[in-house]
Amino acid sequence: MRSLAVLHASELVTLAGSKRPRVGRELSELAIIRDGGMLIRDGKIEKVGPSDEIEKNGGDSEIVDARGRVVMPGFIDAHTHLLFAGNRLDDFERRAQGETYEQIAKAGGGIWSTVGTTRAASESDLLTQAKEHANWFLRCGTTTVEVKSGYGLTVEDELKILRVMCLLKKEVPLEIVPTFLGAHAVPREFSPDEYLEVVVNQMLPRVTAENLAEFCDVFCERGYFDIDQSRRLLSAAKKLGLRLRGHVDQLTNSGGAKLMAELGASTADHLEQANEQGIEALKKANVQPVLLPGSVYALGSSRYPRAREMIESGLSVVLATDFNPGSSPTPSMPMVLSLACTQMKMSPAEAITASTVNAAHSLNRADKIGSLEPGKLANFVIFECEDYRELAYWFGMPQTHAVYVRGARDWL
Ligand SMILES: [Zn+2]
Repeated sequence: MRSLAVLHASELVTLAGSKRPRVGRELSELAIIRDGGMLIRDGKIEKVGPSDEIEKNGGDSEIVDARGRVVMPGFIDAHTHLLFAGNRLDDFERRAQGETYEQIAKAGGGIWSTVGTTRAASESDLLTQAKEHANWFLRCGTTTVEVKSGYGLTVEDELKILRVMCLLKKEVPLEIVPTFLGAHAVPREFSPDEYLEVVVNQMLPRVTAENLAEFCDVFCERGYFDIDQSRRLLSAAKKLGLRLRGHVDQLTNSGGAKLMAELGASTADHLEQANEQGIEALKKANVQPVLLPGSVYALGSSRYPRAREMIESGLSVVLATDFNPGSSPTPSMPMVLSLACTQMKMSPAEAITASTVNAAHSLNRADKIGSLEPGKLANFVIFECEDYRELAYWFGMPQTHAVYVRGARDWL
């Protein structure tokens, strides 16, 4: 297979360093090489260093001149709901006019409208829309996404969504990590306990038998699934070999962070309402918090998660988009970096670590992606800027120049 020599990056942001999830001051250490280069062979990174060294070892490699541009690992978006049909434009307009969630739901909006359109969509229609979404992510510089099911909420519809994820994996360069979120909401015809039985006894065994997901997630929130129900589901999923993630402490502090710590989950996501005890519990159990400022912004709220306290407590923070049609319609990690810096007072370097190498750890893939180091996959992005801080600074303007997945240029 062909080899590539990427040369003369104004900053080669390698994120080389500790093999553990980065915490504290490590979050600020990007291991930048100025006038940096990389040698890539068979889709993997072979050598990283100063450009002149790479050039000497380049042989007859194809040259990629990155002069005047930042080169860094592709973003890893560890929390998305990429797979759904339709959109929520009417909800968006109603919200802008001041209507409440309850009013919107009464008028047929909210998650149920997306569940309806997703159930009605054929596999091929779902796949077509998912491919379009996948291209949006690549254009923003994301090369890996975690994708949750959860807009089917019947056995067959949840399986349909997870199967479309498998098809999507084969058809787009974007790398997909599947998560089963059958417990995203409670269908109207069930009580929460009745529906939980369906999820645990009917969905989970089929999802694992068909090997359709790596993670199991739950929406642990008042009016959805409480702590005991969430514990029952996640414990069953763990026994079947799935790793755990959870939507917790988003609208109310229900002790969701503590539950994720008790269960040894990979991540606790959202955490807008998490308190000190929750943060302490996550720290003790080495659970990574996944912060989703895009959803806080898009809902017009100002209650962002307490990123600084989490970093100071030694948590290995992750940032993600929460891409979904209702509360966070953005595939853009650069937008999330902007929000992390302006609203949560993270530094640009901390935000980049949280959306690359730490995100890779949260998806159990840090041996393959998340930094530019020999042996890892050549998933990287060239941005139209000279200084990595520009990615978080200019907002609302795409700066992506080129995206490479496994050494192949996939967009532009
Ligand atoms: Zn979510």
